[in-house]
Amino acid sequence: MLLLSGPNMCGNEWKYVKDCLDTGWVSSVGSYVDQFEKMTAEFAGTKYAVATSSGTTALHICLVMLGVNADDYVITPNVTFIATCNAIKYTGANPVFIDTDERNWQMDLDLLQSFLENETEQRNNQCYHKKDNKRIPVIMPVHVLGNICDMDRLMAIASKHNLIVVEDSTEALGSYYKGKHVGSFGLMGTFSYNGNKIITTGGGGMIVTNDEVLAKKAKHLTTQAKSDPFEYIHDEIGYNYRLVNVAAAMGVAQMELLPGFLTRKKEIIAFYKNELANTGDIEFQEVSEDVHPNWWLPTIKTTKQREVLKVLNDHKMQSRPFWVPMNQLPMFTGNIYYNKTDRSDFVYKHCLSIPCSTYITDAEMKGVTDMIKTVY
Ligand SMILES: *Cc1c(COP(=O)(O)O)cnc(C)c1O
Repeated sequence: MLLLSGPNMCGNEWKYVKDCLDTGWVSSVGSYVDQFEKMTAEFAGTKYAVATSSGTTALHICLVMLGVNADDYVITPNVTFIATCNAIKYTGANPVFIDTDERNWQMDLDLLQSFLENETEQRNNQCYHKKDNKRIPVIMPVHVLGNICDMDRLMAIASKHNLIVVEDSTEALGSYYKGKHVGSFGLMGTFSYNGNKIITTGGGGMIVTNDEVLAKKAKHLTTQAKSDPFEYIHDEIGYNYRLVNVAAAMGVAQMELLPGFLTRKKEIIAFYKNELANTGDIEFQEVSEDVHPNWWLPTIKTTKQREVLKVLNDHKMQSRPFWVPMNQLPMFTGNIYYNKTDRSDFVYKHCLSIPCSTYITDAEMKGVTDMIKTVY
């Protein structure tokens, strides 16, 4: 089976994990956690990084720290992985969905602006939904597939409407907008180290920020909010959301490999673009010249989506359609979905991701493109 995006453990993973096992430092504290955090902050260009048990828990903690609660709305794209919206719902708040831009598959900023101008108002320097009378403290953009929207514009819109930006940059480690790494635009950003992401710790996440108070608070909240080094004194309701040292050891080894993975992902997308250039109506995601994506998951757009999915998966070349749009899931049918012509559904029905593990060979990729061509 050719995996869609499999883990590539070709560096010091064994060595560092063995070190944890040999020394007994396998659990919630240890030098690899500190090292992984330091490497990530350096890479992302932020002052602080706090490791978490997953990308989902990283997002949840960001929202908890901002006091997001059941009386609130949080703005997010309608095309995203469910984790974004689960994290919002854990706080009791409800996501407001903005339709996708069918060219770059990120949140449509025209629609975002129109939603904010027409449906919201400012009260005491806070954004409120006029009709539902809900506060909208936070916008959570998602850098879908490692691509990035016009961040200058998004940040300007957010600041005009008093929205705090928390970036779901879980898919975008290694992606840059105008030379600046994702996760460093918003007040906070997040990464995920799930098995299919560009680097993996088996499971894990990270919060990055330039705000020292938030970084300390994130560490506190993710470690049961223990406020005394000796006694079991806890000063608020905390969470067991820490990353264990043995996972962080893998993370350190994977961070060492990340530059090589990014190079390989660029070669993979170039190969696919070249091979599929004149194949039927196949198109790729539009990327602005301001953006250097990590090309995490090469994805094509075609009217023959279902046929291509079938032929690839039938031949053990794992490929996947886009996520079912959030507004189509039973938990969210009552939520606001701001759109004009439902481009989310269009993207869902036309896009599919193709095998792109960093260890994939050129011959295997050729096998994939030859198989795709049989459909046309
Ligand atoms: C992977 C991912 C997450 C977080 O995933 P975890 O599996 O919890 O680490 C969140 N949002 C998006 C868009 C993702 O792709």
